[in-house]
Order: sequence, then structure tokens, then C-alpha cells
Amino acid sequence: MALPDTPATSSSSPSGPDRLNPRARIDPDLIRRLTAEIRDASAAIGRPIRLMEVCGTHTMAIFRAGLRSLIPENIRLLSGPGCPVCVTPMGYVDAAVELSRRSDVIVTTFGDMVRVPGTESSLERERGRGADVRIVYSPLDALRMAQERPDRKVVFLGVGFETTAPAAAITLFEARRLGVENFLLFSAHKVVPPALRALLASEAAALDGFILPGHVSVVLGAAPYEFIPKEYRRAAVITGFEPLDILQAVLMLLRQVAQGQPRVEIQYSRVVRPEGNLAARRAMAECFAPCDTEWRGLGVLPHSGLKVREEFEEHDAVRALGVNVLEGREPAGCRCGEVLRGLIEPEECPLFATRCTTAAPVGACMVSSEGACAAHFNFRMSQ
Ligand code: SF4
Repeated sequence: MALPDTPATSSSSPSGPDRLNPRARIDPDLIRRLTAEIRDASAAIGRPIRLMEVCGTHTMAIFRAGLRSLIPENIRLLSGPGCPVCVTPMGYVDAAVELSRRSDVIVTTFGDMVRVPGTESSLERERGRGADVRIVYSPLDALRMAQERPDRKVVFLGVGFETTAPAAAITLFEARRLGVENFLLFSAHKVVPPALRALLASEAAALDGFILPGHVSVVLGAAPYEFIPKEYRRAAVITGFEPLDILQAVLMLLRQVAQGQPRVEIQYSRVVRPEGNLAARRAMAECFAPCDTEWRGLGVLPHSGLKVREEFEEHDAVRALGVNVLEGREPAGCRCGEVLRGLIEPEECPLFATRCTTAAPVGACMVSSEGACAAHFNFRMSQ
């Protein structure tokens, strides 16, 4: 994401929230100062620290900038359940494959979903067999397609978090306004906070804090994360996507840990407001109702999904097409679930870089460039 111009300059304190000049984001002096402060803070804590980034874009940014090599060894950066494609369960992929086999249906989706292996097939494989599966860049593209093809039902696969759900909601409003009855949404949208709660409740990952997702937080604001410090006494910083943003957030997290005063801080204050985006949340609330839903690796989490409200049932693929999401079967040997919970690094999966590569992914975490396994695979020589 391009950074907006801000008046802050490289003379700003590197440790103050979001005082980074975008033009200075590769300023080696700032990087040196931040990494020195991180080293001092981690030495003062004097024990291993485990921080989880909860966004695939952060995972990519960390690897692309080689940030793991800049921070002390006692700080572990773990990838969490923040890649939309990765957390979408097998049963949903299987149901999308089944839909693609119907002759009256066009399946539309973001690109990554096409390659995710289902239990027996994938959308890519079905397309090779003649299914009408098309990649779109927005649900509005799918709506336009539905207008052009009134003879077919155009199903958009609604995958992703609070970042993509508002656009799906706006598309439902548009479909109703324009009377495009053959546009259908197959929602697997999810909300992030229940997944963080599940990770903290299980305690298996033994986390000290979260590098919270910047894009999701533009919509959510800070309040939905308050349970992290209040109920679980863990640190939390809403973080931007430039290398300096992430280093600064790591420092802020370490200071919370060192002081024993966990709280939700906004490092990405040039974009995220504490109250979030009320209009986007209102649109989501009008179109979607919370539901229990399955996450790959985390199981069924209460109130973590968004289903299409009855008021929009004519555009709900589940109701209109009788879609059945059954339990899928994970690929043999794939350990995506443990990767998504921060329990293992991708390299600990026996299939990593042998049977499972980005060219021939076995599991979902190797498909999207934002998946932890794909990030580790693509940058494995440089870390
Ligand atoms: Fe699954 Fe491949 Fe990752 Fe192993 S390396 S956990 S098989 S995606």
C-alpha cells in the first residue's frame, strides 16, 4: 500500500507511534536506530518473546524486507491465521468445486482461490475440464458479469475478512437496486477478533503479543481488540505495512511487555482511526449476520463468520442454490492447521519444499503469496 504524505520527517523519534516519513522508510539510519532500540528492549526483557502477525500482508512484508534477520534471536515472529485463502476450510472449497460443475453457473472469485486444492479437485482443475470459473478483481465485476449473462447464475465466492466483506455488502445493495437477480454471493467471510480469542484461549502458541492487521483495523478500529490486554494480558499494536512500520510496532510491543502494561496501541495512525470506519461496519451489519463458522486449523469458532441476512436471501447462494458445505478432508501430511496456529514453522512440515511447493501446492498455505508456507518457500534462501 502506498503511504500518504505526512508532515513527519526522519528527524521524528523512531519510537513514537506512526511518526514515520514515507520518504524515509528505507532510511538506513532510522532502521539502525530502531533495531538498536529493539535490541536494548529485548535484552532488558531477557527471555524469548513470541509475537504473531495476524495478516498475510505483514507476513509478506516481513519476508520481503528480511526483517527476521534484523531482530534479535530471542524474538520470534510467527505467522497467524491472517491469509483469507488459507483459513477457508476444505468443505467450502469442495462446495465451490461442486457449484462450478453446474452448467447454469458461472463461478467468480479472486485469483488465489482457483488453485486451492479441495478434497478431490480444485477450481483450476474444473476449469480445465470446461467449468466456467472466472477470476475477478472485485465483486462488482461479478455483478456486471451477471448483468451481461442473465441466462446464467453468477456466483461470487465471498472469501476474506473485514477488508473484503464491506465490498461484498455494497455489491449486495447494488444487486438489489439494479434488480440483478442472477447475482449470488457464497459467503465464507470471517471476522478476525474471534480467531485471536481462540488462539489466546488455547495458550498453545504461548504468545506475548499481536502485530494486528492494519487493513482490517481500518474498518474495525481499536475497540474490538480490547479483550487482548484486558482478559489475556497480552500486548497488541495495530500496524502498517512498511518495514519501518513493522519494526516500530515490534518495539512498541516489547515496551508493553517490558512494562507489564499490555494495551491496544495504534502504530498505523496515519490510516487507522480508533473508531474505525462506521459506514463500512454499518453496510456489513445490514447485509450480514454473525454465525459460527469453520476456520482451517482452528475449527468452528462462535460468531466468527458472516452469513447473508434473510433480507438478502434472493442473493444468497446457500439458500438459492441449496449449497451444502460438508466437512472436507485435509491433504494427507499437510500441517497447515499447526502453521496457522503458530505451533510450527512451515519448514517443520515434512512436505515443505519437497512434495509441496508454490508450483504444486499440497495445502492452502502454499497457494496464496500471503500464505506462511509460500512466504517461507519464496524467501527461504534469503532469511
Ligand atoms: Fe501444508 Fe504444504 Fe504448508 Fe506442509 S508446506 S503445511 S503441506 S501447505
